[in-house]
Amino acid sequence: MDIVLRATDDYFFTPYVYPQSWQRDDIWRQIISLSLIVNIGGYLLYIIPTTLDYLFIFDKSLMKHPQFMKDQVKLEIFYASKSIPLMGALTTIVFLFEVRGYSKLYDNWNDTPYGVFGMGLSILSFMFFNDMMIYWIHRFLHYRWFYKYIHKDHHKWKIPSPFASHAFHPIDGFLQSTPYHIYPFLFPLHKATYLLLFISCLQQPTLCSSSVSTCGPSRYTTATSACRRCCSRSSTAPRITSTTTSITTTTTVST
Ligand SMILES: [Zn+2]
Repeated sequence: MDIVLRATDDYFFTPYVYPQSWQRDDIWRQIISLSLIVNIGGYLLYIIPTTLDYLFIFDKSLMKHPQFMKDQVKLEIFYASKSIPLMGALTTIVFLFEVRGYSKLYDNWNDTPYGVFGMGLSILSFMFFNDMMIYWIHRFLHYRWFYKYIHKDHHKWKIPSPFASHAFHPIDGFLQSTPYHIYPFLFPLHKATYLLLFISCLQQPTLCSSSVSTCGPSRYTTATSACRRCCSRSSTAPRITSTTTSITTTTTVST
């Protein structure tokens, strides 16, 4: 995130927002800047891909399904819009530790003894770590109290549209993103790789919410277990054919 913070400092915050006397490494300046970046970026990375997905990929015949709720798209957008600021606040805290140098992120591929090979290895290692942790966090969220108060809303959308991608309880959304944040504090990771993996992780739920077909290639990127869960839910959910209203499959998966 310090790549993004540096760029926004150079081209926006320093010339147009903050007084010249305010040092870039002041913690309060970093908190304000990161909050703005995370929240504005969060909304843009939610609404732009989901809108494109809804317009060009999402199978709209699913909206005729009996389990697709009245005004569901509006509800999904409203729910996600409410959750993003709190998810953003929690994420800002993690990014603050990162930009203040507490992580194992590095700038150049030759900063580690493994070079480019190490960068490739870290991507595989990240995918393994992320998938495994999300699986266990999701299982943990299905314990009674956590399910009732935190995770239940995640399963409210039986037939999700792309706009359900960020429609979590904010604690749920943040917890499911923690593997991504924890990894660079435990293992070395190139900063650019970290940024790309972050954007990939943000887009994963959108791809999974859109349709079964989009899950194909995304199975081989990050957050694959999360994707498979969504995909299995989508692929086994009751379907309606476009020419009739008969349900062709009646199996649903509740997890
Ligand atoms: Zn669940």
